[in-house]
Amino acid sequence: EQKVLFNLHEGINSTLVILKHRLQGNKIRPAIQVIQDYGEFCLIECFPGQLNQVFMNLLANAIDALEESNYGLSFDEIKANPNQITIHTALTEDKNHVLIRIKDNGVGIPVEVKEKIFNHLFTTKAVGKGTGLGLSIAHQIIVQKHKGTLQVNSVLGEGSEFIITLPIY
Ligand code: ADP
Ligand code: MG
Repeated sequence: EQKVLFNLHEGINSTLVILKHRLQGNKIRPAIQVIQDYGEFCLIECFPGQLNQVFMNLLANAIDALEESNYGLSFDEIKANPNQITIHTALTEDKNHVLIRIKDNGVGIPVEVKEKIFNHLFTTKAVGKGTGLGLSIAHQIIVQKHKGTLQVNSVLGEGSEFIITLPIY
């Protein structure tokens, strides 16, 4: 497989189309907001299928975290603090990298769990629901295959933010 030049925004949009199909029939319908802090184009040299896989894995986790945070809440309580996913893309100050932040207001990650989440086969989810593969694959794709970085910020009970940086073409 060859790397190709790829417009990041198109990639994110096509992932969102797939995701919206998956969310049909799901009881949660998070408000998904995309904020783009550069012009129309942000070209990166990448394996597009792999990058879409990363976005998909991170968004699937965000949805799981939102579902978990809704557990036991009434409809009114959920309405008071609606399920949200934000995808924010911006250039770094030196303009050599793009930052992609995928943020949710789901359950958040306990400190003692946070250090393990990128480990292969690590999951806190029930058997059949989690495989523990999503983040280890995402990390491998971003770091090994694209010379980028993948980090997490999270506050328990408030939400999580996964931050990808990728070199710009
Ligand atoms: P899986 O989703 O199959 O459990 P992942 O590798 O995708 O495996 O994620 C590993 C673990 O990281 C999850 O089980 C969960 O505990 C934690 N995690 C990942 N993303 C989030 C998120 N957005 N909010 C809260 N916890 C998360
Ligand atoms: Mg996952």
